[in-house]
Amino acid sequence: MVKKQFAVIGLGRFGSSVCKELYKQGHQVLAIDSNEEKVNEMTRYSTHSAIANATDEKALQSLGIRNFDYVVVAISGDIQSSILCTLVLKEFGVENVWVKAQNYYHQRVLEKIGADRIVHPEQDMGIRIAQHLTSEKIVDYIELSADYSIVELIATNKVAKKSLIDLDIRAKYGCTILGIKRGEDINIAPTPTDHIERDDILIVIGHKNDLKRFEDEGM
Ligand code: ATP
Ligand code: ATP
Ligand code: CA
Repeated sequence: MVKKQFAVIGLGRFGSSVCKELYKQGHQVLAIDSNEEKVNEMTRYSTHSAIANATDEKALQSLGIRNFDYVVVAISGDIQSSILCTLVLKEFGVENVWVKAQNYYHQRVLEKIGADRIVHPEQDMGIRIAQHLTSEKIVDYIELSADYSIVELIATNKVAKKSLIDLDIRAKYGCTILGIKRGEDINIAPTPTDHIERDDILIVIGHKNDLKRFEDEGM
């Protein structure tokens, strides 16, 4: 398997978390920040690290940034640097440039200059936490697009001891169960005759409206 190469520019709370997690998962990560202290803190959690200004084209070039598969621009406090850095990365031909946006205007500019993915971690996390707070059934939530999500739901008494056929979830709610977690075990290819037990965690994919309906009426 060809390993993907990652670089993270800007080692604030967001960038350093991205960097640490990639490194923990065994990927190659280059950590870059203009602040020496931030870079030093990250040497234990990255394959390589460098002190460089994200807007310095020559510096980025000498780090070989154009050879990276994914570059995460995690500077949002300094919008000008974030934009200029993103522009340079796209001009270099970096395939996947993911950028943390500060606000809507920042996002609009990033879209125009070709950022491949724009993230709003504070807003996204806020939504996710609100969803946890308002639902006793939802344990986790992944947004796939504006309309589709994957949720993890705790099986209630209502669905316990029933099979997928009994529940007829796909036909009734348009949702599909991708997996059933039971303690440490996970069944990733549930068959229609598999039974659900109370407190199993159901991994369900579907349209948000359908998931909501399943959560409210089906469980
Ligand atoms: P947090 O994730 O902590 O909320 P943030 O998104 O608010 O961070 P900033 O605080 O602006 O972002 O910056 C994050 C990091 O980016 C800091 O460590 C800072 O030193 C670094 N940084 C800012 N400007 C540049 C630049 N031009 N080149 C390289 N690194 C930079
Ligand atoms: P379908 O075209 O709906 O799959 P089918 O007659 O082939 O119909 P089965 O695959 O045996 O039916 O499943 C019967 C019903 O059980 C389905 O209609 C569906 O509602 C439900 N079901 C089966 N597997 C799942 C799943 N993974 N997630 C949700 N519901 C399921
Ligand atoms: Ca911040």
